[in-house]
Amino acid sequence: MLKRRRRKGDRNERLCLGCRQLRDKRNLVRVAAFRDGRVIIDEAKKLGGRGVYVCPYADCVIAATKKRGWGHGFKRPIDAKTLNELLSQLKRHILWMTGDLARLC
Ligand SMILES: [Zn+2]
Repeated sequence: MLKRRRRKGDRNERLCLGCRQLRDKRNLVRVAAFRDGRVIIDEAKKLGGRGVYVCPYADCVIAATKKRGWGHGFKRPIDAKTLNELLSQLKRHILWMTGDLARLC
């Protein structure tokens, strides 16, 4: 897995695909895309693949989807079926996560 340091040594921060804010990656959901076309939520944040991050909030997921951010983030187009599956996974995930996290966005 590639380790990139875009922001002066702080590798715990990632950009949310929806709101484009830098956030601690512990507070973001990682979604990983693989060469075989699978797109899955990477709960442990160590699956590899091409990862993008999004806040665990419906607003950010919707913003990422509207801006076609997913395909851009994954550096490959994402087909409608895969996107729908991802969104339904994220909805369940968001319901679970927002119980613990203060709303930041
Ligand atoms: Zn966000």
